[in-house]
Amino acid sequence: MTNPLLQSAELPAFSEIKPEHVQPAIAQLLKRNREQIHTLLDTISEPDWGTLVMPLESLDDQLSQAWSPVSHMNSVINSDALREAYNACLPLLSEYGTEMSQSPELYNAYQAIADSESYAQLDQAQQKSIENTLRDFRLAGVALPDDKKQRYGDIKKRLSELTSKFSENVLDATQGWTKLIGHADELAGVPESSLAAMAQAAEAKELQGYLVTLEFPSYFPIVTYCENAALREEVYEAFVTRASDQGPNAGEWDNSELIDEVLALRHELATLLEFDNYAAYSLATKMAETPQQVRQFLQDLADKSRSLAQQEFAELQVYAKDSFEVESLNPWDVGFYSEKLRQHRYAISQEELRPYFPVNQVISGMFEVVKRLYGIDIQTVSEVDSWHEDVRFYEIRKDEQAIGRFYLDLYARANKRGGAWMDECRVRRRCSDSSLQLPVAYLTCNFNGPVGDKPALLTHNEVTTLFHEFGHGLHHMLTQVEVGAVSGINGVPWDAVELPSQFMENWCWQPEGIALISRHFETGEPLPQEMLDKLLAARNFQAAMQMVRQLEFSLFDFRIHQEYNPHAQGAVQSILDEVREQLAVVPVVPYNRFQHGFSHIFAGGYAAGYYSYKWAEVLSADAFSKFEAEGIFNQATGQSFLKNILQQGGSRDPMELFVAFRGREPSVEPLLRHSGLA
Ligand SMILES: [Zn+2]
Repeated sequence: MTNPLLQSAELPAFSEIKPEHVQPAIAQLLKRNREQIHTLLDTISEPDWGTLVMPLESLDDQLSQAWSPVSHMNSVINSDALREAYNACLPLLSEYGTEMSQSPELYNAYQAIADSESYAQLDQAQQKSIENTLRDFRLAGVALPDDKKQRYGDIKKRLSELTSKFSENVLDATQGWTKLIGHADELAGVPESSLAAMAQAAEAKELQGYLVTLEFPSYFPIVTYCENAALREEVYEAFVTRASDQGPNAGEWDNSELIDEVLALRHELATLLEFDNYAAYSLATKMAETPQQVRQFLQDLADKSRSLAQQEFAELQVYAKDSFEVESLNPWDVGFYSEKLRQHRYAISQEELRPYFPVNQVISGMFEVVKRLYGIDIQTVSEVDSWHEDVRFYEIRKDEQAIGRFYLDLYARANKRGGAWMDECRVRRRCSDSSLQLPVAYLTCNFNGPVGDKPALLTHNEVTTLFHEFGHGLHHMLTQVEVGAVSGINGVPWDAVELPSQFMENWCWQPEGIALISRHFETGEPLPQEMLDKLLAARNFQAAMQMVRQLEFSLFDFRIHQEYNPHAQGAVQSILDEVREQLAVVPVVPYNRFQHGFSHIFAGGYAAGYYSYKWAEVLSADAFSKFEAEGIFNQATGQSFLKNILQQGGSRDPMELFVAFRGREPSVEPLLRHSGLA
């Protein structure tokens, strides 16, 4: 019987994936993998790289290749049938993962390789992959007694279901609220481009007028530009109460109980493995060494930014009072008056910049940036099977050789998860027949699409987001590592993985970089010098306020995992309140349920790890400071970054790689300087 998800072709055939085939195909694959692994362990006499690791990695890779397109489509073209099929597979995959990572036979076989004389002959990546695997066996409880092993497996399975449900609730709650506005008058202040998108959204549902939704390209312009304070408040309330016990859809898609159960299970999992709490467990695979170190790191940044953040907010209050007679700012006023102040001070808005950032110019300019830095060429490939007509597909070449490929899915649409991210479709690896498998990535954004015959026009924020995700993509695709487990982003500690992505953003803030990515979509003119100056001058507008906001999320995430107490009722909300008390400078309303939509930590991989963004930003800002000193298109510096960071993937410790590139350990000074906090 052929397996419909096991295609030998180089790329997945998305259009052939039928929801009804998914669960049986995955079940069949898991059964086959189990049989082959048992046979392997029975027949092997002396485990080594070729007899054990290679065949296991190949089975593992086939499973990811079958699962990756399903999981991706579940995120970007969600449907009831696909969601059901996806969820039916989660417990199967979780059981299989636990079984493999707790197998004493596999553990002993890996340990035997590590203890053998042949170990010294393995290359760095191979050794690192074995080292990580042994660590992960221990973190999965391979040494636990059977009843505890069983409990570990049950917890993992339940967590995979809960986190999937969390994500579904956020998506459903986001789509479960819309508001039809009859006249543009009620939307005064909202930019033309957003109005056009709202009109298009209404038309798609055969409605007259403007459809306001909670998807970011609709939510953001309302709270930033809409003069109608009552509407801002209504949209704000709907947004910050999504998937919670509050707001217009209170109790529907409510994540309250899920949050409690996820935290309880994570804590139990950590203590099962003899960690004090989930925060300590989370750090076992990260660059940061102890919870104290993370808390200290966040505290230091808070000390350096909080009073400046208070000052920024005070300035906003004064401005709103003096210019608009607003006595006190509500949460739904902060973004709105901030935008007015930004325009007043710098006379520039994100909207005025849009015409200068048509999507194709941005993309071709971005490719030019990496051509200069790393000597790579990127070309469109047409006629590739995908999941939606808007998806583009590209190939990266170096010295005329293809080295990686990626899908680019740019625009927001219904049934697509919000936000922007990079995920892997195929990993670079040397296969057992000695052929080389090339890496393939998915780059996903949620920008406003083209309206009518106008091309999609991006704000500078969106351009920065695109560069960020492209940076992750380059980390995945430019790797030279041939061992799947430590190739590209694999095996990279979570708090170092944002280095290449945040690093790429810097070219959006350099005149030479901006010259490549901007051109007026009608006249073809470059961004006028005056606008460029304003854009750069406005870069650090409210930078301290943004910093404390990120620190608030990071500290909240870390504390709810570190301080979990099964007997403390309502601890999540009270820790959030405490953290806000300590850090926040903007007003908060009691119904705000930010945590109910915090998918990064409840549905993504950032649990007790949201601090990673700031941690890695120290690394990326410091790495970029070398380009500032040596020239932002300095080829030698570019090649050094490529060779020491991007190509190495997870094959070495991130500190070692950083020092190899920078010549010393990281300094926090460039981040403070770039954020205007020095
Ligand atoms: Zn990122």
